[in-house]
Amino acid sequence: MSETTQTIFSKIIRREIPADIVYEDDLALAFRDINSQAPVHILVIPKKPIPRLADAESGDDALLGHLLLTAKRVAEQAGLTNGYRVVINTGPDGGQTVYHLHLHILGGRQMAWPPG
Ligand code: AMP
Repeated sequence: MSETTQTIFSKIIRREIPADIVYEDDLALAFRDINSQAPVHILVIPKKPIPRLADAESGDDALLGHLLLTAKRVAEQAGLTNGYRVVINTGPDGGQTVYHLHLHILGGRQMAWPPG
């Protein structure tokens, strides 16, 4: 197996380790972050193992759009009517720790800017 198919998120997709899954379809999965940074902290991931946003290709345009719309739906489902933040950490300087593309949905409190 490649490095990407062995990440913790691929194991969650394959149900090899447990997660608090809140949404799933053919292309995407959403589950609660294990180390929550806000009252609501959910990760949206593609089932396709793209390591980083920097590795996405032009053929992934529909998938990337689907992930954003999934983030919107999941935020609505979580009751985040007063707003929320969507974050993609990419590579070492971006603070990425799991090399399977993911969108953080953070909400339920006032977010600060600039982020750390
Ligand atoms: P990042 O630092 O942007 O790569 O984000 C990775 C996120 O994955 C962190 O917020 C972690 O808390 C989260 N995480 C790591 N392992 C798990 C897991 N088994 N279940 C849920 N979230 C996880």
